[in-house]
Amino acid sequence: MALMLTSVPGTNDIFAQSKEYPFREPVFRYIIQTAERVLRSSGAQMIYTPIFEYAEVLQKGVGVTSDIVVKKEMYTLEDRGGRVLGLRPEPTASIVRAYNQHGMKVWPQPVRLFTWGPMFRAERHQRGRYKQFHQVDYEALGSADPLVDAEAIALMVQIYRELGLKGLEVKLGSVGDPEDRVRYNDYLRGLFRPYAQALSEDSRVRLESNPMRILDSKSEADQRIVAEVGVKPMLEFLGPEARAFHERVAGYLEKLGVSFSIDPSIVRGLDYYVRTAWEIHHSRIGAKSALGGGGRYDGLSEMLGGPRVPGVGFGIGVERAALALEEERVQIPADPAPDLYLVPLDEAALLEALQIAQGLRPRFRVEMAYAPKNPRKGLEEALKKAARFAAFLGEGERQRGVVTLKNLHSGTQVEVSPAELAGHLA
Ligand code: AMP
Repeated sequence: MALMLTSVPGTNDIFAQSKEYPFREPVFRYIIQTAERVLRSSGAQMIYTPIFEYAEVLQKGVGVTSDIVVKKEMYTLEDRGGRVLGLRPEPTASIVRAYNQHGMKVWPQPVRLFTWGPMFRAERHQRGRYKQFHQVDYEALGSADPLVDAEAIALMVQIYRELGLKGLEVKLGSVGDPEDRVRYNDYLRGLFRPYAQALSEDSRVRLESNPMRILDSKSEADQRIVAEVGVKPMLEFLGPEARAFHERVAGYLEKLGVSFSIDPSIVRGLDYYVRTAWEIHHSRIGAKSALGGGGRYDGLSEMLGGPRVPGVGFGIGVERAALALEEERVQIPADPAPDLYLVPLDEAALLEALQIAQGLRPRFRVEMAYAPKNPRKGLEEALKKAARFAAFLGEGERQRGVVTLKNLHSGTQVEVSPAELAGHLA
């Protein structure tokens, strides 16, 4: 016998009865629908973009020095025409590409879009980190006003609150303007060069290409060096404009009643971020505690060959949110039980049952047994499904032109014609 094929480790099948709780479809649906409700209430519009793009779009999007490019975390494939395609590691680049391609710059600004779906990163998987994971993503394009940053952070917090999560920490930082980063990177190079030999291999590469990334290195040795050298935070290197911008975002958040802490050390893995950067952490999901993050990326559109389009947005990790919901034991709304469970008592009743079911769907939730049952077994199944009603169809019912309808809450039983069923269920 052939070996049974399995899925790629680091990917998840998400279905209602999965043993891999919380990766169950009702949990995912709860997260995505809650996010969608909040974002739609703000007037943001849904956009679907392809899960693959020309690799350049995604590479420019994540920046040439980010882990995603340097460590080859992007899955690529070759098209038949020889063009290299990539599976999206995150959706921002695709959305900005779509904004430019469809001339959204002439729409009233900012254009506020959201999406959700699978993202792909060839990472070493562990709890909370997968090769295929899901994000809800929001982008506000075409405004450089810090009010739009504050709104994005407030919407993100509102989504987690609506989900019922409490242990949230909002960490606000700023990565400054490009010229601030040049100064900061020079400072970091000077600071870390004497330690080059002790740094991890990744960080030695970053020392020249993007020394800020050493600060959020996952290597313990790097973290010890970072602690030892006493790094000044990026926030101290902000020029006057980036500083004023940062203070306005913080001021707006206070007025909106969003609690947050300033995290002076916040750096983002992605190169195109400028000014506002934030992360939302959860106190109890362990090392991989970032539920999501966001930031401003005013230079991205130009990198994609478009006009200058300031933008700000965030990504919410669906799997991380699911883990946090599990940690906090948040009750996920259960799927409603069937209104009616149809029990065919003989072969001829199978099609009759399906006809009745199709007549009542989708106004009512109707399920049926797919083989003839005796009444006792049929009743057992209906009770197990927690149906409100069970209907039995057999030879006697056929001759009288009725079904036997049992109310499973009160126990009362009546004979009704199929045409009367809807009235009884309602
Ligand atoms: P990033 O685009 O790296 O800022 O990620 C945004 C959010 O997506 C993170 O805060 C996580 O919640 C989630 N995320 C990123 N990478 C992964 C992954 N490999 N597996 C699961 N969730 C992830």
